[in-house]
Amino acid sequence: MTTLKAVRGTRDLLPPETALWNRIEAVARAVFARYNFGEIRTPIFEDTSLFARGVGEETDIVSKEMYTWEDRARAQSEKSQSLTLRPENTAGVVRAYIEHKLGETGQLQKLYYIGPQFRRERPQKGRYRQFFQIGAEVIGPPSAGSESPLRDAEVLEMLATLLDELGITGWTLHLNSVGSSADRARYNEALRAALEPIAHTMCADCQRRAVTNPLRVLDCKVPEDQPIIEKLPRIADHLDPESQQHFAAVTAALDAAGVPYTLNHRLVRGLDYYTRTTFEFTHGGLGAQNAILGGGRYDGLSEALGGPRAPGIGFAIGEDRLVLTLQAQEPDQNSAPRQAADAYIAPLGEAMNAAALSLARELRHTGLAVELGEGSFRLKKSFEAADKTARCIVILGEDELQSGILTVKDFSTGTQTKVPRAELAVFLAEPNRG
Ligand code: AMP
Repeated sequence: MTTLKAVRGTRDLLPPETALWNRIEAVARAVFARYNFGEIRTPIFEDTSLFARGVGEETDIVSKEMYTWEDRARAQSEKSQSLTLRPENTAGVVRAYIEHKLGETGQLQKLYYIGPQFRRERPQKGRYRQFFQIGAEVIGPPSAGSESPLRDAEVLEMLATLLDELGITGWTLHLNSVGSSADRARYNEALRAALEPIAHTMCADCQRRAVTNPLRVLDCKVPEDQPIIEKLPRIADHLDPESQQHFAAVTAALDAAGVPYTLNHRLVRGLDYYTRTTFEFTHGGLGAQNAILGGGRYDGLSEALGGPRAPGIGFAIGEDRLVLTLQAQEPDQNSAPRQAADAYIAPLGEAMNAAALSLARELRHTGLAVELGEGSFRLKKSFEAADKTARCIVILGEDELQSGILTVKDFSTGTQTKVPRAELAVFLAEPNRG
């Protein structure tokens, strides 16, 4: 029989690496709490049309990368429906915002999420078919101030704080404005016109994009095309006065807060719903897939999904890439020994197993981390197992049970101590015993 393996592009996360994932998520939750964000959990699959309308039919995600299936009706009252594993979470959050009429509160909604996303991309280091994103959205009616450039600057300042608190050093914030959808349409036409006479000198992808989606030419990484792309019209020269002022206010607030950024006129991002501010944080240690996170403003998304006017701004951090960055920065993160338990309880003989479980229960209730041994092991084997998993071994035989005096051996000092059962928890919790 062939052995089964995790599907291409998916992975198992095992201890001790999962400890790093948990630390990252704990830091993110703590930072989000300080900025007064609340958690949202949306379903992992949604109606396919949510992504077609919310992300855009023309995008790579929707046109090539989605896991979509026809969910057959199981009863006469049901209809069969096209469903898709979520390739990103913003569309789901905005769908929930509309469905639960969160706009009617009149307040800004500040929501964060942590969870898996699915895209059928070509797997490589830092790019998977199931990957994890930590993201947040600030969305609300215009009367709640959702269009204000201060919201953009606050979100970017929060991200700088989060990366700093995670200990990620050397990140770069790339910033751009893609203007209103009218600005983008005008710019698209200017690009199309500029590309028409020269596209035939560019790579095959650019030749195609020059016709189908000229903005995407700016994503091209082919070295020979770079001098041509640098001479193309820039979006900054096609912004209307409101978008220009909005962007100037974002950068002024970042300057005042001391958050460093680089203007990157080629940052147009892969999703159709972005308007005005777009951004990406990159890290040099990641190789080809160097984007740690991306995001931007999406003032028209709610309306595109049939909801009320609800401007918003959000981002998604690639958690897999945070992990890779931290591992590259501190190579011993992974090889760190597993956190040792406070004690290993070694029952002497199988008859002691049940008593050992109650002792373990007693100690664990006090907050100690306890590894429970196995009475069929010889003492030597118990010592070997204990030495690998815990700081101390506690021997539990018939005598110990009767007398209530237990023998504890501390592996770090080599000392052996007799401890009354009533004092055992305090003794084991004492860091400098022996
Ligand atoms: P996007 O939703 O495309 O704006 O992506 C936001 C972030 O998610 C990126 O900057 C990456 O860090 C991460 N990301 C996107 N696609 C993948 C993937 N296939 N594997 C791992 N991380 C990804």
